[in-house]
Amino acid sequence: MSEECTHDCGSCGSSCGDRTAPQISRSTNNSGVKKVIAVVSGKGGVGKSLVTSMLAVNAAKKGLKTAILDADITGPSIPKSFGVVEKAGCNEDGTVIYPGMTKKGIKIMSLNLLMENETDPVIWRGPVIASAVSQFWNDVAWGDTDVMFIDCPPGTGDVPLTIFQSLPVDGIVVVTSPQELVTMIVDKAVNMAKLMNIPVVGLVENMSYFKCPDCGKVHYIYGESHIHETAAKNGIDIIAQIPIDPKTAASVDAGEAEELDVSVLDPMFDKINGISKETENVTIAVTYEDGQVFQHFGHSEHFKIYNVEDGKVVSGHMIDSGSEGHEALAGVLQQEHVDVLICGGIGGGAMDALSSMGIQVVPAATGSADDAVAAYLNGQLSVDMQPNCDHHEEGHSCGSHDCGSHGDDGEGCSCGGCH
Ligand code: ADP
Repeated sequence: MSEECTHDCGSCGSSCGDRTAPQISRSTNNSGVKKVIAVVSGKGGVGKSLVTSMLAVNAAKKGLKTAILDADITGPSIPKSFGVVEKAGCNEDGTVIYPGMTKKGIKIMSLNLLMENETDPVIWRGPVIASAVSQFWNDVAWGDTDVMFIDCPPGTGDVPLTIFQSLPVDGIVVVTSPQELVTMIVDKAVNMAKLMNIPVVGLVENMSYFKCPDCGKVHYIYGESHIHETAAKNGIDIIAQIPIDPKTAASVDAGEAEELDVSVLDPMFDKINGISKETENVTIAVTYEDGQVFQHFGHSEHFKIYNVEDGKVVSGHMIDSGSEGHEALAGVLQQEHVDVLICGGIGGGAMDALSSMGIQVVPAATGSADDAVAAYLNGQLSVDMQPNCDHHEEGHSCGSHDCGSHGDDGEGCSCGGCH
């Protein structure tokens, strides 16, 4: 460690022995992201970005709220393939970045959406690239997202590995092409996945063959494929083969990735969709009073805890909070291993405390607690809903609590619901 060390590894390019990997954190910006799939390749130019785009288009066509995090920092190509040119915006103090949006509603974040001139070369070193990716994860307002695809930097070395350590990746898709040393690349990717305890969802062989548009004859331009043997050796059963097609390249160049035929990836989608989701086996807490969702998180005296398996409630019990104030209440929920809190009004401080503990917050629920849980499991309640008491103004009275009874800054008030 040098004497000038600031202990902020995120802003430093040095690879000293004290470097720490960025931490996986769940900020309020990403607490609604349900599944994260990383797309990797052995080297650049094999079609990793194309496959990432196709996977996202496929998921969006199937009705999932979809996002792409373009982690290929030195060769970002995702915005261009979707024709997204508008730069990303941010909030007033620059702490939250708003993602770009494709014509059909896929959220995207890429360095290209932040750089003034997208042809400027990016010559950052690995640790800084990894920090940028971790910032995309933490600082972008991803909102409610069913599946996020990460277009990883090429290779199976340090940078993708750091990304896996700093993002909660649920599955990996490996993209190869027939001219690569496929066995070696797949073996490396599988080893990396094992190291991180993440499943390999499947293999995509891009540029597998070329079908002559005139006579229909199939040509194996880069030689015969060895993808099936490689997959069998590694116990991977889902494979997609994508042909070389000048029309594909033309669509992507024209920013029309959403017009591609992506049905070849249907089996991959089914596998991704089937990865056991956090939401299928979860513990849900609801702020509770007399069977109803209690409206002030910071004053909750009781929570009802629901255990959910395979998307169904299997048991429920009551707990007394025994305390007041959002930090103490968040601690109570953490002790109960709660994954999701359903509540009514809740303030920003409480949201942050819960998110930093990995607890997803679903605010603005009203009525029966049991019905609210059922609605959440049916996808009718979401983390994007606005807390119904996020204002704090003189004379405002919301249920049991009168916000006008204390100062504008809420001093002396431990209500988590109104500021
Ligand atoms: P990577 O992300 O692995 O660097 P890209 O997805 O950016 O690779 O693809 C590299 C180039 O090859 C792009 O111009 C892309 O449009 C083109 N390309 C990729 N796959 C195909 C394909 N199957 N048919 C035609 N062109 C393709």
